[in-house]
Amino acid sequence: MEQVVIIGTGCAGLTAAIYTARANLSPLVLTGAMPGGLLTTTSTVENFPGFPEGIDGFQLMQNLQKQAERFGARVQFGHLDSVDFSGHPLKLVVDGETIISKTVIVATGSKPRALGLPSEEALEKHGVTYCATCDGALPQFRNQPLVVVGGGDSALEEATYLTRFASEVHLIHRRDSFRASVIMQERALKNPKIKPVWNSVVTEVLGVAEKKVSGVRLKNIETGMTSTLSCAGVFVAIGHVPNTAVFNGQLETDAGGYIQLREGTRTNVRGVFAAGDVADSVYRQAITAAGTGCAAAIEAERFLGEETENY
Ligand SMILES: Cc1cc2nc3c(=O)[nH]c(=O)nc-3n(C[C@H](O)[C@H](O)[C@H](O)COP(=O)(O)OP(=O)(O)OC[C@H]3O[C@@H](n4cnc5c(N)ncnc54)[C@H](O)[C@@H]3O)c2cc1C
Repeated sequence: MEQVVIIGTGCAGLTAAIYTARANLSPLVLTGAMPGGLLTTTSTVENFPGFPEGIDGFQLMQNLQKQAERFGARVQFGHLDSVDFSGHPLKLVVDGETIISKTVIVATGSKPRALGLPSEEALEKHGVTYCATCDGALPQFRNQPLVVVGGGDSALEEATYLTRFASEVHLIHRRDSFRASVIMQERALKNPKIKPVWNSVVTEVLGVAEKKVSGVRLKNIETGMTSTLSCAGVFVAIGHVPNTAVFNGQLETDAGGYIQLREGTRTNVRGVFAAGDVADSVYRQAITAAGTGCAAAIEAERFLGEETENY
């Protein structure tokens, strides 16, 4: 029987792996389909503490994995197919094989929702991004016109944040009013750099041949008219989907599908903890994921200490 199984190898999972490995718990760490997690999809990470010149996202995640393995973490390619958390020990089915464990740390992250355009995919890392806090300050976006797609709180927050760097921010929304809270709307709409484009959708991101975003093609869904808009970056802010489908019916989630935490990183199931973006609809940063990964590891370790007599 395992002491700790960690699901996911993003910042949350690998930080939990470092802590539980150093506590001699020899964690089994499952990579899922994306070893290293979301940060491997970005180039330079400029806001992770400790790297004054920034660090390549892939390199950072390799470092975290090596650090965890140095203390005895067992990182294994594997996808969690289903769980049975109805009793103890906890049961997990990984690529058809059943694993039993005393504790589980869920660190499966979330996926940013994409527009679903081939040109968007082609220009990811070349001006198309899903995180203003992460990428807004990059030199390529400074003093340039930028586009934000979306109409909810995050879109308006991202647009407002980007006005610190951009010459102007075009906020493309498919309806004629925002879904965001009134306070966010007031703040965004009184900012002279934010220019809403109503009733419109992006049908193409321009610049594929040059491998650099140069604009977007828009369609007004009321009139059917198309137009183009020059910009150096497209920030897609139409929501995130937490990777929690595999826990349906077993772990409590909120209306958006994020795992609901009780005290600290505890879930509704004894011995199951959650960390990182899978339980965080607010911050979604590498350092916050690492922080909660640390917290989940400490809580799993304490749980094992307190509950040893039960096994
Ligand atoms: C383009 C982009 C750029 C970013 N840049 C920055 C930045 O500069 N700075 C910053 O702080 N943040 C940045 N972020 C945000 C940051 O990447 C996330 O906050 C962070 O990766 C969250 O870590 P996590 O461990 O919670 O989840 P993730 O990194 O999403 O990792 C989830 C892990 O779970 C695994 N998994 C999922 N489902 C299963 C399953 N069923 N079975 C097994 N494993 C599974 C995946 O394979 C993956 O290993 C960026 C995000 C994006 C999209």
